[in-house]
Amino acid sequence: MASEFDLIAQYFTRPTHHTKLGVGDDAALISISQGMELAISADMLVAGTHFFHDADAYKLGWKSLAVNVSDMAAMGANPKWATLAIALPEVNAAWLAEFSRGFFACAEAFNVDLIGGDTTRGPLTISVQIMGEVPIEQAIKRSNANVGDEIWVSGHCGDAALALAHMQGQLTLSADAFASCTKALHTPQPRVALGLALRQIANSAIDISDGLLADLGHILERSNVGATLMLSSVPHSAYLADKLAGAVRHNESATTSSAANSYDKSILNMLLAGGDDYELCFTAPIEKHAEINNLSEKLALPLSCIGRITANTGLIVHGFNGEILDFKETGFDHFS
Ligand code: ADP
Ligand code: MG
Repeated sequence: MASEFDLIAQYFTRPTHHTKLGVGDDAALISISQGMELAISADMLVAGTHFFHDADAYKLGWKSLAVNVSDMAAMGANPKWATLAIALPEVNAAWLAEFSRGFFACAEAFNVDLIGGDTTRGPLTISVQIMGEVPIEQAIKRSNANVGDEIWVSGHCGDAALALAHMQGQLTLSADAFASCTKALHTPQPRVALGLALRQIANSAIDISDGLLADLGHILERSNVGATLMLSSVPHSAYLADKLAGAVRHNESATTSSAANSYDKSILNMLLAGGDDYELCFTAPIEKHAEINNLSEKLALPLSCIGRITANTGLIVHGFNGEILDFKETGFDHFS
Protein backbone atom coordinates (compact mmCIF):
# COMPACT_ATOMS: atom_id res chain seq x y z
CA MET A 1 0.00 0.00 0.00
CA ALA A 2 1.86 3.05 -1.33
CA SER A 3 0.62 5.68 1.10
CA GLU A 4 0.67 3.48 4.20
CA PHE A 5 2.66 5.90 6.35
CA ASP A 6 0.57 8.92 5.36
CA LEU A 7 -2.52 6.90 6.00
CA ILE A 8 -1.37 5.91 9.48
CA ALA A 9 -0.33 9.48 10.27
CA GLN A 10 -3.58 10.91 9.03
CA TYR A 11 -6.12 8.48 10.39
CA PHE A 12 -4.57 6.54 13.22
CA THR A 13 -2.28 8.92 15.07
CA ARG A 14 -3.73 10.95 17.92
CA PRO A 15 -2.24 12.40 21.09
CA THR A 16 -2.01 9.83 23.87
CA HIS A 17 -2.76 10.25 27.56
CA HIS A 18 -0.92 7.52 29.41
CA THR A 19 1.64 6.17 26.97
CA LYS A 20 5.43 6.56 27.00
CA LEU A 21 5.85 6.01 23.25
CA GLY A 22 2.92 5.57 20.87
CA VAL A 23 2.49 5.14 17.11
CA GLY A 24 5.57 5.64 14.94
CA ASP A 25 8.38 3.40 16.17
CA ASP A 26 8.88 -0.34 15.85
CA ALA A 27 7.09 -0.89 19.13
CA ALA A 28 5.15 1.18 21.63
CA LEU A 29 6.27 1.62 25.24
CA ILE A 30 3.97 1.70 28.24
CA SER A 31 4.53 1.74 31.98
CA ILE A 32 2.21 -0.21 34.21
CA SER A 33 1.08 1.46 37.42
CA GLN A 34 2.43 0.01 40.67
CA GLY A 35 0.33 -2.77 42.17
CA MET A 36 -1.44 -3.42 38.88
CA GLU A 37 -1.32 -6.27 36.41
CA LEU A 38 -2.15 -6.19 32.71
CA ALA A 39 -5.36 -7.65 31.34
CA ILE A 40 -4.97 -8.36 27.61
CA SER A 41 -7.56 -9.37 25.07
CA ALA A 42 -8.10 -9.32 21.30
CA ASP A 43 -11.15 -9.45 19.07
CA MET A 44 -11.27 -9.68 15.31
CA LEU A 45 -14.11 -8.49 13.09
CA VAL A 46 -14.24 -9.90 9.56
CA ALA A 47 -16.43 -8.39 6.82
CA GLY A 48 -19.15 -10.80 5.77
CA THR A 49 -18.82 -12.77 9.01
CA HIS A 50 -19.17 -10.20 11.79
CA PHE A 51 -20.58 -7.28 9.84
CA PHE A 52 -22.09 -6.54 6.44
CA HIS A 53 -19.68 -5.27 3.76
CA ASP A 54 -21.61 -2.03 3.49
CA ALA A 55 -21.74 -1.45 7.27
CA ASP A 56 -21.57 2.16 8.41
CA ALA A 57 -17.85 2.92 8.84
CA TYR A 58 -18.26 5.18 11.91
CA LYS A 59 -20.26 2.54 13.77
CA LEU A 60 -17.81 -0.17 12.74
CA GLY A 61 -14.96 1.92 14.15
CA TRP A 62 -16.86 2.38 17.40
CA LYS A 63 -17.83 -1.27 17.68
CA SER A 64 -14.40 -2.70 16.87
CA LEU A 65 -12.97 -0.96 19.92
CA ALA A 66 -16.12 -1.22 22.06
CA VAL A 67 -16.23 -5.03 21.96
CA ASN A 68 -12.66 -5.08 23.27
CA VAL A 69 -13.38 -2.50 25.96
CA SER A 70 -16.28 -4.74 26.99
CA ASP A 71 -13.82 -7.60 27.64
CA MET A 72 -11.89 -5.31 29.99
CA ALA A 73 -15.12 -4.39 31.78
CA ALA A 74 -15.93 -8.08 32.24
CA MET A 75 -12.56 -8.62 33.95
CA GLY A 76 -12.91 -5.58 36.21
CA ALA A 77 -9.98 -4.05 34.34
CA ASN A 78 -9.55 -0.40 33.43
CA PRO A 79 -8.99 -0.22 29.65
CA LYS A 80 -5.91 1.86 28.74
CA TRP A 81 -4.14 0.87 25.52
CA ALA A 82 -5.15 -0.65 22.21
CA THR A 83 -3.49 -1.72 18.98
CA LEU A 84 -5.33 -1.89 15.66
CA ALA A 85 -4.40 -4.28 12.85
CA ILE A 86 -6.47 -3.59 9.78
CA ALA A 87 -6.63 -5.13 6.31
CA LEU A 88 -8.24 -2.89 3.70
CA PRO A 89 -9.23 -3.89 0.17
CA GLU A 90 -8.46 -0.33 -1.03
CA VAL A 91 -7.60 3.08 0.37
CA ASN A 92 -10.93 4.82 0.61
CA ALA A 93 -10.36 8.18 2.29
CA ALA A 94 -14.01 8.80 3.15
CA TRP A 95 -14.36 5.34 4.69
CA LEU A 96 -11.13 5.67 6.68
CA ALA A 97 -12.09 9.11 7.96
CA GLU A 98 -15.42 7.78 9.26
CA PHE A 99 -13.96 4.55 10.63
CA SER A 100 -11.25 6.37 12.57
CA ARG A 101 -13.76 8.96 13.81
CA GLY A 102 -15.87 6.15 15.28
CA PHE A 103 -12.86 4.33 16.67
CA PHE A 104 -11.52 7.44 18.40
CA ALA A 105 -14.96 8.44 19.67
CA CYS A 106 -14.97 5.16 21.59
CA ALA A 107 -11.30 5.59 22.56
CA GLU A 108 -12.03 9.02 24.03
CA ALA A 109 -15.18 7.88 25.77
CA PHE A 110 -13.24 5.15 27.60
CA ASN A 111 -9.85 6.87 27.84
CA VAL A 112 -8.01 4.35 25.67
CA ASP A 113 -4.78 5.28 23.81
CA LEU A 114 -4.24 3.80 20.34
CA ILE A 115 -0.55 2.94 20.56
CA GLY A 116 0.20 0.96 17.41
CA GLY A 117 -0.94 -1.59 14.92
CA ASP A 118 -0.53 -2.78 11.39
CA THR A 119 -2.08 -1.70 8.11
CA THR A 120 -2.15 -3.90 5.04
CA ARG A 121 -4.10 -4.58 1.87
CA GLY A 122 -6.54 -7.48 2.02
CA PRO A 123 -10.17 -8.45 2.60
CA LEU A 124 -11.64 -6.00 5.12
CA THR A 125 -10.63 -7.33 8.54
CA ILE A 126 -10.24 -5.42 11.78
CA SER A 127 -8.28 -6.86 14.67
CA VAL A 128 -8.00 -4.92 17.89
CA GLN A 129 -5.93 -5.87 20.88
CA ILE A 130 -6.64 -4.14 24.16
CA MET A 131 -4.71 -3.86 27.40
CA GLY A 132 -6.02 -2.70 30.71
CA GLU A 133 -4.94 -2.50 34.30
CA VAL A 134 -6.40 -4.34 37.25
CA PRO A 135 -5.05 -4.47 40.82
CA ILE A 136 -3.02 -7.65 41.32
CA GLU A 137 -5.31 -10.62 42.13
CA GLN A 138 -8.49 -8.56 41.78
CA ALA A 139 -9.53 -9.48 38.24
CA ILE A 140 -13.04 -10.95 38.06
CA LYS A 141 -12.79 -14.37 36.44
CA ARG A 142 -15.32 -16.72 34.89
CA SER A 143 -14.16 -19.54 37.12
CA ASN A 144 -15.08 -18.25 40.54
CA ALA A 145 -18.89 -18.48 40.76
CA ASN A 146 -20.00 -19.99 44.08
CA VAL A 147 -23.02 -22.12 44.87
CA GLY A 148 -25.73 -19.82 46.23
CA ASP A 149 -24.49 -16.75 44.31
CA GLU A 150 -27.15 -14.64 42.73
CA ILE A 151 -26.89 -14.17 38.97
CA TRP A 152 -27.23 -10.63 37.65
CA VAL A 153 -27.34 -9.00 34.27
CA SER A 154 -26.98 -5.34 33.32
CA GLY A 155 -29.19 -3.39 30.92
CA HIS A 156 -31.45 -5.29 28.55
CA CYS A 157 -31.04 -8.57 26.71
CA GLY A 158 -32.07 -9.18 23.13
CA ASP A 159 -32.28 -5.69 21.59
CA ALA A 160 -29.28 -6.25 19.32
CA ALA A 161 -30.80 -9.51 18.06
CA LEU A 162 -34.14 -7.74 17.54
CA ALA A 163 -32.45 -5.08 15.39
CA LEU A 164 -30.66 -7.77 13.39
CA ALA A 165 -33.90 -9.70 12.85
CA HIS A 166 -35.49 -6.50 11.53
CA MET A 167 -32.56 -5.90 9.17
CA GLN A 168 -32.86 -9.46 7.91
CA GLY A 169 -36.59 -9.08 7.30
CA GLN A 170 -37.63 -11.64 9.92
CA LEU A 171 -39.87 -9.14 11.70
CA THR A 172 -40.78 -5.49 11.52
CA LEU A 173 -39.99 -2.90 14.16
CA SER A 174 -41.41 0.60 14.36
CA ALA A 175 -38.95 3.38 13.47
CA ASP A 176 -38.53 4.23 17.18
CA ALA A 177 -37.95 0.63 18.18
CA PHE A 178 -35.43 0.07 15.41
CA ALA A 179 -33.56 3.29 16.24
CA SER A 180 -33.23 2.17 19.85
CA CYS A 181 -32.37 -1.48 19.18
CA THR A 182 -29.87 -0.65 16.48
CA LYS A 183 -27.84 1.30 19.03
CA ALA A 184 -27.33 -1.90 20.99
CA LEU A 185 -26.27 -3.68 17.80
CA HIS A 186 -24.00 -1.06 16.23
CA THR A 187 -22.77 1.23 19.00
CA PRO A 188 -22.75 -0.91 22.15
CA GLN A 189 -21.85 0.82 25.42
CA PRO A 190 -19.28 -1.27 27.26
CA ARG A 191 -20.04 -1.39 31.00
CA VAL A 192 -16.66 -0.24 32.29
CA ALA A 193 -17.87 1.68 35.36
CA LEU A 194 -19.88 -1.38 36.38
CA GLY A 195 -16.93 -3.73 35.84
CA LEU A 196 -14.66 -1.57 37.99
CA ALA A 197 -17.22 -1.42 40.81
CA LEU A 198 -17.75 -5.19 40.63
CA ARG A 199 -14.15 -5.93 41.64
CA GLN A 200 -15.27 -5.63 45.25
CA ILE A 201 -18.64 -7.29 44.75
CA ALA A 202 -18.75 -10.04 42.12
CA ASN A 203 -17.34 -13.55 42.29
CA SER A 204 -17.46 -14.06 38.52
CA ALA A 205 -18.35 -12.09 35.41
CA ILE A 206 -18.55 -12.30 31.63
CA ASP A 207 -19.68 -9.93 28.92
CA ILE A 208 -22.57 -11.08 26.76
CA SER A 209 -21.35 -11.36 23.20
CA ASP A 210 -22.79 -14.73 22.20
CA GLY A 211 -26.10 -14.61 24.10
CA LEU A 212 -27.08 -14.79 27.77
CA LEU A 213 -27.37 -18.58 28.00
CA ALA A 214 -24.19 -19.32 26.08
CA ASP A 215 -22.13 -16.79 28.02
CA LEU A 216 -23.57 -17.72 31.41
CA GLY A 217 -22.83 -21.29 30.30
CA HIS A 218 -19.13 -20.38 30.16
CA ILE A 219 -19.25 -19.21 33.79
CA LEU A 220 -21.02 -22.42 34.83
CA GLU A 221 -18.57 -24.63 33.01
CA ARG A 222 -15.47 -22.85 34.25
CA SER A 223 -16.81 -22.72 37.81
CA ASN A 224 -18.16 -26.28 37.69
CA VAL A 225 -21.61 -25.25 38.94
CA GLY A 226 -25.14 -25.00 37.57
CA ALA A 227 -27.87 -22.37 37.62
CA THR A 228 -31.58 -21.78 37.90
CA LEU A 229 -32.95 -18.80 35.99
CA MET A 230 -36.33 -17.08 36.03
CA LEU A 231 -37.35 -16.05 32.53
CA SER A 232 -39.66 -13.41 33.99
CA SER A 233 -36.64 -11.67 35.57
CA VAL A 234 -34.52 -11.50 32.42
CA PRO A 235 -34.49 -7.77 31.61
CA HIS A 236 -35.72 -6.67 28.22
CA SER A 237 -36.76 -3.46 26.55
CA ALA A 238 -40.36 -2.43 26.00
CA TYR A 239 -39.76 -3.20 22.31
CA LEU A 240 -38.87 -6.80 22.98
CA ALA A 241 -41.68 -7.07 25.56
CA ASP A 242 -44.08 -5.95 22.88
CA LYS A 243 -42.97 -8.68 20.45
CA LEU A 244 -42.91 -11.26 23.23
CA ALA A 245 -46.42 -10.36 24.44
CA GLY A 246 -47.70 -10.64 20.89
CA ALA A 247 -46.10 -14.06 20.60
CA VAL A 248 -47.51 -15.28 23.94
CA ARG A 249 -51.00 -14.00 23.09
CA HIS A 250 -50.82 -15.69 19.74
CA ASN A 251 -49.83 -19.00 21.29
CA GLU A 252 -52.38 -18.84 24.10
CA SER A 253 -55.14 -18.68 21.56
CA ALA A 254 -53.78 -21.73 19.79
CA THR A 255 -55.45 -25.07 20.52
CA THR A 256 -52.32 -26.99 21.43
CA SER A 257 -50.96 -25.70 24.71
CA SER A 258 -47.87 -27.44 25.92
CA ALA A 259 -47.00 -24.63 28.33
CA ALA A 260 -43.26 -25.03 28.09
CA ASN A 261 -43.34 -24.54 24.36
CA SER A 262 -46.08 -21.98 24.11
CA TYR A 263 -43.87 -18.94 23.47
CA ASP A 264 -42.63 -17.88 20.09
CA LYS A 265 -39.21 -19.52 20.00
CA SER A 266 -37.69 -16.86 17.81
CA ILE A 267 -38.44 -14.00 20.25
CA LEU A 268 -37.38 -16.09 23.26
CA ASN A 269 -34.27 -16.96 21.32
CA MET A 270 -33.42 -13.27 20.99
CA LEU A 271 -33.89 -12.71 24.70
CA LEU A 272 -31.94 -15.73 25.93
CA ALA A 273 -29.57 -16.54 23.10
CA GLY A 274 -29.27 -13.36 21.03
CA GLY A 275 -25.69 -12.15 20.81
CA ASP A 276 -24.02 -8.78 20.63
CA ASP A 277 -25.63 -7.07 23.63
CA TYR A 278 -22.33 -6.43 25.43
CA GLU A 279 -24.02 -6.29 28.79
CA LEU A 280 -22.32 -7.87 31.80
CA CYS A 281 -23.57 -11.07 33.41
CA PHE A 282 -22.08 -11.59 36.88
CA THR A 283 -22.57 -13.60 40.04
CA ALA A 284 -22.32 -12.28 43.60
CA PRO A 285 -23.05 -13.50 47.12
CA ILE A 286 -26.63 -12.88 48.23
CA GLU A 287 -25.32 -10.55 50.98
CA LYS A 288 -24.36 -8.10 48.24
CA HIS A 289 -27.92 -7.80 46.93
CA ALA A 290 -28.65 -4.38 48.43
CA GLU A 291 -25.22 -3.05 47.50
CA ILE A 292 -25.82 -4.06 43.89
CA ASN A 293 -29.19 -2.31 43.86
CA ASN A 294 -27.47 0.83 45.19
CA LEU A 295 -24.82 0.52 42.51
CA SER A 296 -27.55 0.28 39.88
CA GLU A 297 -28.98 3.57 41.08
CA LYS A 298 -25.57 5.22 41.27
CA LEU A 299 -24.67 4.17 37.72
CA ALA A 300 -28.21 4.80 36.41
CA LEU A 301 -27.97 1.33 34.86
CA PRO A 302 -30.58 -1.39 35.43
CA LEU A 303 -29.11 -4.42 37.20
CA SER A 304 -31.48 -7.40 37.36
CA CYS A 305 -31.18 -10.48 39.51
CA ILE A 306 -32.21 -13.33 37.21
CA GLY A 307 -31.42 -16.47 39.20
CA ARG A 308 -29.09 -18.45 41.44
CA ILE A 309 -25.99 -20.59 41.11
CA THR A 310 -26.66 -24.24 42.06
CA ALA A 311 -24.46 -27.19 42.98
CA ASN A 312 -26.20 -29.36 40.37
CA THR A 313 -24.47 -28.69 37.10
CA GLY A 314 -26.81 -27.79 34.26
CA LEU A 315 -29.08 -24.89 33.59
CA ILE A 316 -32.76 -24.80 34.47
CA VAL A 317 -34.90 -21.95 33.17
CA HIS A 318 -38.36 -21.37 34.63
CA GLY A 319 -40.79 -19.92 32.10
CA PHE A 320 -43.33 -17.17 32.69
CA ASN A 321 -45.73 -19.56 34.40
CA GLY A 322 -43.07 -21.21 36.54
CA GLU A 323 -42.84 -24.24 34.24
CA ILE A 324 -39.41 -25.55 33.31
CA LEU A 325 -38.47 -24.75 29.74
CA ASP A 326 -37.47 -27.87 27.90
CA PHE A 327 -34.29 -26.95 26.05
CA LYS A 328 -32.00 -28.30 28.72
CA GLU A 329 -31.47 -31.85 27.43
CA THR A 330 -30.71 -30.75 23.93
CA GLY A 331 -28.49 -27.88 24.96
CA PHE A 332 -28.76 -24.31 23.83
CA ASP A 333 -28.35 -25.22 20.15
CA HIS A 334 -31.86 -26.56 20.04
CA PHE A 335 -32.88 -23.10 21.00
CA SER A 336 -31.36 -21.23 18.10
P1 ADP B 1 6.80 -2.11 11.18
O1 ADP B 1 7.17 -2.12 9.73
O2 ADP B 1 7.92 -1.90 12.10
O3 ADP B 1 5.89 -3.24 11.57
P2 ADP B 1 4.76 -0.33 10.39
O4 ADP B 1 5.36 0.36 9.23
O5 ADP B 1 3.85 -1.46 10.13
O6 ADP B 1 5.92 -0.80 11.36
O7 ADP B 1 3.99 0.71 11.29
C1 ADP B 1 4.57 1.97 11.58
C2 ADP B 1 3.99 2.46 12.90
O8 ADP B 1 2.60 2.69 12.74
C3 ADP B 1 4.13 1.46 14.04
O9 ADP B 1 4.34 2.21 15.23
C4 ADP B 1 2.80 0.77 14.08
O10 ADP B 1 2.51 0.30 15.38
C5 ADP B 1 1.86 1.90 13.67
N1 ADP B 1 0.65 1.45 12.98
C6 ADP B 1 0.55 0.76 11.82
N2 ADP B 1 -0.72 0.58 11.46
C7 ADP B 1 -1.48 1.14 12.43
C8 ADP B 1 -2.87 1.28 12.66
N3 ADP B 1 -3.81 0.81 11.81
N4 ADP B 1 -3.27 1.92 13.77
C9 ADP B 1 -2.37 2.41 14.64
N5 ADP B 1 -1.05 2.34 14.49
C10 ADP B 1 -0.60 1.71 13.39
MG1 MG C 1 9.57 -2.57 12.57
